[in-house]
Amino acid sequence: MTIKQNVRQILNELPAGVQLLAAAKTREPREILEAVEAGVRIVGQNYVQEAEKAYQVVGGRVEWHFIGHLQKNKVKKAVDIFDMIETVDSTELAAEIDKRCAQAGRTMPVLIEVNSGREEQKAGVYPEDAERLIGEISTLKNIRVMGLMTMGPLGGRPEDSRPYFKETKRVFERIRASNPPNVEMKYLSMGMTDSYRIALEEGANVIRIGSRIFGERAQG
Ligand SMILES: *Cc1c(COP(=O)(O)O)cnc(C)c1O
Repeated sequence: MTIKQNVRQILNELPAGVQLLAAAKTREPREILEAVEAGVRIVGQNYVQEAEKAYQVVGGRVEWHFIGHLQKNKVKKAVDIFDMIETVDSTELAAEIDKRCAQAGRTMPVLIEVNSGREEQKAGVYPEDAERLIGEISTLKNIRVMGLMTMGPLGGRPEDSRPYFKETKRVFERIRASNPPNVEMKYLSMGMTDSYRIALEEGANVIRIGSRIFGERAQG
């Protein structure tokens, strides 16, 4: 199967209102281009430097989402490239994005990353802390909170992800119902190659797919 065929097959499977993000880490710009030509509208990148290279080739015809761990010293560049940052998990990071966006004269849509598996080494806030973080950062003028993102624990069977997706969805709905000011709970980004069908059943409206589009990664 080619990249194009993979993308078309996934797009055909997707319910209305669900967006496909192509997770493009380690992929060549020409591979990303092929996915875009087949209908991908959102490209996800984990590293700012890699994104810069891909951006030079693919450009502004797609939306660029940052889905990795964002270091403070990379925020300025990230603000130049990305249309959304899906991995905000601290007031410090949010404040830095806000500051750099103010300098650039723009507003950054962000998602809050939830560490739904409660793994100590993992990025993200624990589910019970998402609402408080949103309360703390929603007053920042140059970011806009637009939902939640989660990975869930990696490995295991796809079905093992379900409780983590369920809990993230519950948090998403609770915050949405509380209708916090300056917040638009619109996107719930969850599910990868192995788990996206489960994520869809549990209410994801953005799925992030890498290997099912581009093939297995060499490593990592
Ligand atoms: C790599 C990655 C994905 C996609 O993973 P696959 O298993 O290749 O589909 C999704 N989300 C994030 C944050 C990633 O880093």
